[in-house]
Amino acid sequence: MGNPDVARIFYEVADLLELQGVSFKPQAYRRAAAAIEQLEVDIADAVREGRHKEIPGVGAAIAKKIEEIVDTGRLAYLDELKSEVPAGLLEVLMIPDVGPKTAMQLHRELGISSVAELKEAVESHRLQSLKGFGAKTEERILLGIRTLESSGGRTLLGEARPVARAYLAHVMACVPDVPASICGSLRRGRDTIGDIDILVASDSPDEVSEAFASYGLVSEVLARGSTKSSVLLQNGLQVDLRVVEASSYGAALQYFTGSKEHNVIVRKIGVERGLKVNEYGVFERGTERPVAGDSEESVYEALGLPWIPPELREDAGEVSAALDGKLPSLVDASDIRGDFHIHTDWSDGSDTIEEIASAAANLGYEFVAITDHSQSLTIANGLSPEKLRRQLGEIGRVGDKHADDITVFSGSEVDIKPDGSLDFPSSLLRELDVVIASIHSKMKMPKADMTKRMTKALESGDVDILGHPTARIIGRREPVEVDLEEIFEVAADAGVAMEVNAFPDRLDLRDVHCRLAKEHGVPVAIGTDSHSVRHLEYLELGTITARRGWLEKGDVLNTFRPNDIRKRLSGRRS
Ligand SMILES: [Zn+2]
Ligand SMILES: [Zn+2]
Repeated sequence: MGNPDVARIFYEVADLLELQGVSFKPQAYRRAAAAIEQLEVDIADAVREGRHKEIPGVGAAIAKKIEEIVDTGRLAYLDELKSEVPAGLLEVLMIPDVGPKTAMQLHRELGISSVAELKEAVESHRLQSLKGFGAKTEERILLGIRTLESSGGRTLLGEARPVARAYLAHVMACVPDVPASICGSLRRGRDTIGDIDILVASDSPDEVSEAFASYGLVSEVLARGSTKSSVLLQNGLQVDLRVVEASSYGAALQYFTGSKEHNVIVRKIGVERGLKVNEYGVFERGTERPVAGDSEESVYEALGLPWIPPELREDAGEVSAALDGKLPSLVDASDIRGDFHIHTDWSDGSDTIEEIASAAANLGYEFVAITDHSQSLTIANGLSPEKLRRQLGEIGRVGDKHADDITVFSGSEVDIKPDGSLDFPSSLLRELDVVIASIHSKMKMPKADMTKRMTKALESGDVDILGHPTARIIGRREPVEVDLEEIFEVAADAGVAMEVNAFPDRLDLRDVHCRLAKEHGVPVAIGTDSHSVRHLEYLELGTITARRGWLEKGDVLNTFRPNDIRKRLSGRRS
């Protein structure tokens, strides 16, 4: 049970209490949840030392509940609350822009208790009869429902990955020394995933399925057999287990990693060579003699192919590239030397520059860039020019202190205003090491206007990186309308890099756009957009996205040494 899990339980309690019309208590749970999210230490350690009671907002009652969660992995109070509220109403809360108050009003006054019922009510304009609801609200709710539907109940890669890794670690600890892996879309690194797939090779499948079903975070065992089991976790994710014989492990790993489209092509190549490919192995047609299967490499080799990295297996030309010996040599997590996009407590982050620098140095980074918001972004406590100048002093001090272990670049995430101008004067931007320019306002411009707005910023001569270029938020906000090909052409000429924003709900540029940027000769810069030291670990999600975009080491600025980055970026100021 990590801190985010405990926080999530309390947020859920708060929502449920609010749905029941309880006042004050929901705020108390939310305050505690937020404090736990921000906590520097592991909540389980805090409980062991009795220090969880010192967390701001945690009184005696909540402290007891934290103990219960840490001890048992669940909270009886939450289960109780859940049983009192229609399950469909919780789903209604997942619609963007619909909070507990609105959901409760809809339930009370129109008897709505599911997303389907709400959609029906919106479409027949029944909401307009309610106090405070107009045509605009209906439209917004309908858009929210569509966004929810298009996300299809999928889970962010960044949320599912740690869950899957912890689960796999549990299974591997119970049944040591057997091959085991995550497969499916999670292994391919897709930005959202449907469920988690775990594959294990073992001669004692019952032992494996026992270990699988006994995991502490399982809320329900959906199916249990010796080769296939399924469970539902407390956070709603489904996890499927397959157990195969060691001689089939590679074939099963290849098969269950997918994608389906990739596997169709792989099987076709098999047919051309007189081979049958399935999850048990590669077999000679007719004689059924097995020719490969224990490792993934052996499966691809039997087909005359080199091993293809899972991130590329999307039927996007990877098999023909493999046949031609033209697979890219993908950038690897170990090539990445630092992070280009970090907020501190100078704007809307929660940690100091010193805390970020120390944490990044501990992670083995060679550089970090401090890029707080600019003045226009008042909701994010953007910096005035004077404050930014003062911050430069502090960045310099921290940088000097850590000179032996990490380079701290000064920087800014400067707003691109609706007219395409930047939120700081050129003279100030030229004092900074790294300038990210981003759009945070007026996202609904027509495509031509948005393209003009961004190209003007790129051509200003003051920008190093275009931040989260499409501004999408997965499951919540569609990308802005912009002509990316034109953006890439202009960026290539202006020497501006594209960001791969690695925050779990952004991953922007996304995979296919990374590839397009590369084709236009535009490098990418990965930035976590961290607002806390806890977010620094998202860097790997950016690397996975870059890999899915076929990027090699040389395409990613984060692989350069700090001195070379400095040289490259200083071109902007000459
Ligand atoms: Zn931003
Ligand atoms: Zn940011």
